[in-house]
Amino acid sequence: MSGKLCDVCRESPPVYRQAYSGVSFCAECFKESIEKRVRRTISRYSLLREDDRILVAVSGGKDSLSLLKILARIERDFPRASLVAVSIDEGIPGYRDEALRLAAELCRRLRVEHRVYSFKELFGAGLTDARESGVLKRLGLGPCTLCGVWRRKSISLAARELKATVVATAHTLDDIVQTYLMDMLRGEFPKAPIGLRREGDGIIPRVSPLRLIPEEEVVLYAYLSRIPFQETPCPNAQDSQRDLVRSFLAHFDARYPGSLFAALKAIESRIETREGALTHCKVCGEPTSRSLCRSCELEGLVSHILGETRQLVGPDVGVDDV
Ligand code: SF4
Ligand code: ZN
Repeated sequence: MSGKLCDVCRESPPVYRQAYSGVSFCAECFKESIEKRVRRTISRYSLLREDDRILVAVSGGKDSLSLLKILARIERDFPRASLVAVSIDEGIPGYRDEALRLAAELCRRLRVEHRVYSFKELFGAGLTDARESGVLKRLGLGPCTLCGVWRRKSISLAARELKATVVATAHTLDDIVQTYLMDMLRGEFPKAPIGLRREGDGIIPRVSPLRLIPEEEVVLYAYLSRIPFQETPCPNAQDSQRDLVRSFLAHFDARYPGSLFAALKAIESRIETREGALTHCKVCGEPTSRSLCRSCELEGLVSHILGETRQLVGPDVGVDDV
């Protein structure tokens, strides 16, 4: 790109060429374009309201820290809105600790309240406890399944406790298309669009303001904005189905730019949202389509198996020792 100038300001050298639009951006114009696109996404889909108390789910990775930074900027223009950042500690020693530190640091810099909730406190066992004690194997579950269900539930519990009116998650364009494709590879067509505001009986809506931003642009935004983020992947990530789908889609989109946007549009135009009759979980009261929500079901199974294991090895032995 030497000798060429940014297509937007025509002053500075470009740092990024957007393959799907052909536009080259300098660092400043690129960051501005991301922030503008997030604002546009929020208004196009009516994701946020002027008086929302927004819970931002912050893992400490590039996506969620970038989202937090962008929302903190946008929130300044809406004095009746407020932000609170929530991180979930799944109990993966050596991995989550660094992420939590980075999340806390950025929150301090942005002056956003930061709260941490842990699986251990909420459900009685961390993810590594459950894995090492053989519980996951006995239940036939991968770590990501339990992690996903409990993380979702932890965020809902945090949202209620902190009186949030909406939860903002950092799902990017890539994440959303991956999820739709994974549904289809399991033989199901997606039942509802991801990250669009849906209100309902007792539901705190979840929105994804980065839903139209490709993953690689979020990474670049984080680098250019000098946001320190965790680069080490979760030790369980290689096992996941999502990883396979992610790498296929990334290769495909690199060869055929714009494919992810095309897939999102085509899939979402065919989703028929069926408001399944929601009831409330008989244990925790959260909205669910079953009498017992999946999180409470797993919590019961995990604590039952851990209890059996403790009985076998003696009452004072923790799961770490099993
Ligand atoms: Fe949880 Fe799996 Fe993500 Fe690790 S990769 S944080 S186990 S969902
Ligand atoms: Zn429940």
